[in-house]
Amino acid sequence: MRDMERLELTVLSLDRPFASVMRVTGQIDTNMQGPWSAPNVAVRMELEQPADGRATTRVYTVRHFDAAEGLVEIDFVLHEGDGPAMRWLRAAVPGTKVWMTGPRQHFVPPQTPGRRAAMLADDTAVPAIHAILAAWPDGQAGTVWIDSVEPDLLASLPAPKDVTRHLLLRGPQDPPGTSQALRAVADTLTDPAAWTVWAAGERQEMRDLRSALTGRGFARSDLQILGYWRHGVSSSEVDRQRLAEYERIRAMNLPMEALDDADLPI
Ligand SMILES: Cc1cc2nc3c(=O)[nH]c(=O)nc-3n(C[C@H](O)[C@H](O)[C@H](O)COP(=O)(O)OP(=O)(O)OC[C@H]3O[C@@H](n4cnc5c(N)ncnc54)[C@H](O)[C@@H]3O)c2cc1C
Repeated sequence: MRDMERLELTVLSLDRPFASVMRVTGQIDTNMQGPWSAPNVAVRMELEQPADGRATTRVYTVRHFDAAEGLVEIDFVLHEGDGPAMRWLRAAVPGTKVWMTGPRQHFVPPQTPGRRAAMLADDTAVPAIHAILAAWPDGQAGTVWIDSVEPDLLASLPAPKDVTRHLLLRGPQDPPGTSQALRAVADTLTDPAAWTVWAAGERQEMRDLRSALTGRGFARSDLQILGYWRHGVSSSEVDRQRLAEYERIRAMNLPMEALDDADLPI
């Protein structure tokens, strides 16, 4: 829990910047302005509390942190399939309080002279892209591809001068996580010496993308790829499998580096 804390967020407002997104702005009381302001940090929110068990949690990205006011901005993608996050959102109003743990630092594309950073994201990773682009270093070349249903999405994102941005617009009838549009982009990245790759989205698409790139000679150390959600499976089940794998590795006295999220059988 280094540089992380468990604290309460008080919801101040709920807005709909896009039809598919609910933006929650909340306030926290923290002395850790530095870690909360870092690009691409996430929180684990305690969204449901069974009377006799552990809280059901979900992970969300801090899109923006206002250090002066302690304001945390989180964009929830609205999706079909009921889950704790969607239920929590339906009940949330200004004044609602929720416990959460964070800020957990997630990958940020490395600065690599002479190489371009490819960033591939679906809607759930747009808050991460927003935070990463808002802190983008001058002189680092990058290209972003986003698989989204929102035609006006790019206008809402920072536009650093060295970064090219592409929208892969999905039709409203196409379910998220099924288009393979990001996978198709990955197939155009043919020169491992020219690129590093950051990607986040549906687990199976991310797994396919990673194996396509490693198959083409990309080193694992040049890939930062994470599955954010799994089509047809709740994140509680993904968490259960991760915990079981963690226990298995611990029982075998293996180093925790042996736990690779991409290898979970889900
Ligand atoms: C590091 C990290 C950062 C993340 N940041 C964000 C973020 O900023 N914003 C965000 O919206 N999500 C983000 N996610 C993804 C989010 O945690 C999952 O989408 C989560 O499963 C939502 O929980 P739920 O309770 O709504 O649905 P669950 O109970 O997990 O799932 C119920 C059903 O809904 C489906 N489902 C879940 N998510 C989606 C989706 N996005 N689209 C379509 N179907 C879905 C599942 O496949 C399942 O069938 C992040 C995940 C990680 C690991």
